[in-house]
Amino acid sequence: MVLVCPMPKLIDKLSNIKLAIFDLDGVIYRGDALIPHADKIIYELKEQSIRVIYNSNNSTATRKTYVEKLKKFKINTNASDFYTSASITSAEITKLKRNAKIFVIGERGLREELQSFGHKIITEPLNIKEIDFVIVGLDRDFNYHKLAIAQKCILEGKAKFYATNTDSTLPVARGLKPGSGAMVNALITCTNTNPERIFGKPEPFGIKMILNDTRVSAKNACIFGDRLNTDILAGNRAGIISIAVLTGVTSQKMIEDLKIKSRNSENFDINLIPDLVINDLSEIIKN
Ligand SMILES: [Mg+2]
Repeated sequence: MVLVCPMPKLIDKLSNIKLAIFDLDGVIYRGDALIPHADKIIYELKEQSIRVIYNSNNSTATRKTYVEKLKKFKINTNASDFYTSASITSAEITKLKRNAKIFVIGERGLREELQSFGHKIITEPLNIKEIDFVIVGLDRDFNYHKLAIAQKCILEGKAKFYATNTDSTLPVARGLKPGSGAMVNALITCTNTNPERIFGKPEPFGIKMILNDTRVSAKNACIFGDRLNTDILAGNRAGIISIAVLTGVTSQKMIEDLKIKSRNSENFDINLIPDLVINDLSEIIKN
């Protein structure tokens, strides 16, 4: 007799899911360690023909780097499974202008993504007026010289000011470091100009791009994230099911406190409250 194991069922709230979007840090891994169950759950979702996409605000690494990183955790992916704030920015800019000349405040991941879409990175512009875009992302070598060039391109040239994302902090192994928002705000201050576009979470733009590319409607999609003011906010703004996973920066108490605040404050953004809260990813499988 051959025993056939029944396919594990997803919890009722996710029974109609065709697309699962995962934040990376705090959901799939923490630093260099896989978060328990993440690999098995992703395998299970794929077994059930659910499309799995990874969506990170971190613009410092390329999609290829993420493929290699997940390979170490025995999670097989392709570059096209990743939507980083750098790749989303690059894809959108390509729709506006081909072979654009760009001044970047950002790291290798952002520069290489832009170059892979055919754009040219100008590091020391001789003619300020030839720069089409100034794009700002996290740059751990950020300095006054770069800021001054970016300022000049915007104030004296015709460059559009775009930001990959505006995260205030960057979680590291021991606490927090400045996020890309610190660089974006430096440029806002010295140009008295806000970015025309911001592509990362909590803007819903990236999720809408994913829905469009995968041809899945919002009601059949969900996002798993550990941060309320980026992942959950973006998911709710895009109209997909938002699931907070408590394996990263958010605790149950933080969510309870926020729910109390939502009842007591008129200006509270209800999109910060997740549709579902789980302790870890294994809880999406029915017992
Ligand atoms: Mg995260």
